[in-house]
Amino acid sequence: MRIDDHWLDTARRVASPNANARPQGEVSAVVLHGISLPPGVFGGDAIERLFTNTLDPDAHPAFGAIAALRVSAHLLVRRDGECVQFVPFDRRAWHAGKSRWHDGGRLREGLNDFTIGIELEGADEVPYREAQYRVLAEVLQALARDYPPITTERITGHGYIAPLRKTDPGPAFDWAYLRRCLTATV
Ligand SMILES: [Zn+2]
Repeated sequence: MRIDDHWLDTARRVASPNANARPQGEVSAVVLHGISLPPGVFGGDAIERLFTNTLDPDAHPAFGAIAALRVSAHLLVRRDGECVQFVPFDRRAWHAGKSRWHDGGRLREGLNDFTIGIELEGADEVPYREAQYRVLAEVLQALARDYPPITTERITGHGYIAPLRKTDPGPAFDWAYLRRCLTATV
């Protein structure tokens, strides 16, 4: 797995218009998310449609409230481990929203500015799949190689950086297992 010109070579590309320049050019941390559309349903193209502003608000009762959002992530890791990339890593994707993080001694806000957003197809209470951990660990290793400020300590979750609004990737996400996968693939 390699990164060429800020795109993952193994990912299917679905370019999202929901992106812009990083204000300081900094790429130094990763935010993990969980998403499924409709909630709890896996498969289908609704996530890709949401991130490309083509989700039909009438296709499902859950879509009406979100179809007009302008959101994206850099990567989606599907249940079978397939990677879809929406935004090149040097651009700012719109995944974190209002967010804050203790970065060393300083409190930083607006994590989209300097993070890479990775969505795992899943739900808070449903175990993520082995294929997803395996691929995610490989992706994180590739990111750490190409963006040296990214380290194991600089991988966080949406629920940690927006705790009153968000819970993903949720209690089902096994952080300890991810760390073991990362160690095994070094
Ligand atoms: Zn999220």
